[in-house]
Amino acid sequence: MKKSLKNIEKIIKILKKETKKYKNPVVTEVSYDNNPYKVLISCLLSLRTKDEVTAKATNRLFKEIKTPKDVLNLSRKQIENLIYPVGFYRTKAKRIKEISKTLIEKYKSKVPSDIDELLKFKGVGRKTASIVMVYGFKKIDYIPVDIHVHVISNRLGWVKTKTPEQTMDKLMKIMPKKYWFDLNNLLVIHGQNICLTISPFCSKCPVNKYCPRIGIKRSR
Ligand code: SF4
Repeated sequence: MKKSLKNIEKIIKILKKETKKYKNPVVTEVSYDNNPYKVLISCLLSLRTKDEVTAKATNRLFKEIKTPKDVLNLSRKQIENLIYPVGFYRTKAKRIKEISKTLIEKYKSKVPSDIDELLKFKGVGRKTASIVMVYGFKKIDYIPVDIHVHVISNRLGWVKTKTPEQTMDKLMKIMPKKYWFDLNNLLVIHGQNICLTISPFCSKCPVNKYCPRIGIKRSR
């Protein structure tokens, strides 16, 4: 195993225990419904939006819709009203309509369980597609990397990368597969509550004795 991962087992064990104190990210909560369509839409809503806002918008929208067909019965304005105030709600309402229409026309109203097919959808990048694979289909062939996973993996010295895409590629090369499923969820919760992107709470971080705190300029 890579030298930078020598404490991985301890870190994961501690985070599994400590993150239980906090709320799950929206996508994790949504995954309990076993509905890949809901995972896909909630993930789109979550881009550049706080988790609490995404959770409320997802709930409002999914009270009105159950399937892609239901979306086509709503006007774009109605979708905008349901998802407001998520970031870029107008563009997202448009995307939700487009994606739902494509699902009906080309995929028999089902979200494809193939990452390459998902990546053909406008507005679906690698992060969203990998989240749908892992949380929607329970396919552990990917490590979804958002800003928290990217930032913390660098601070812990696991990777030395510039973008979430690079982090995803690197982590999938070096991380033992047994940690893949938990990694996104644990680091997102840790990043939302302790290892904040700006000024993390290193003094009360449960894994601080294993963290080289790479790149940290300001912490609490
Ligand atoms: S010690 Fe600081 S930088 Fe390292 S994981 Fe904890 S909060 Fe993040």
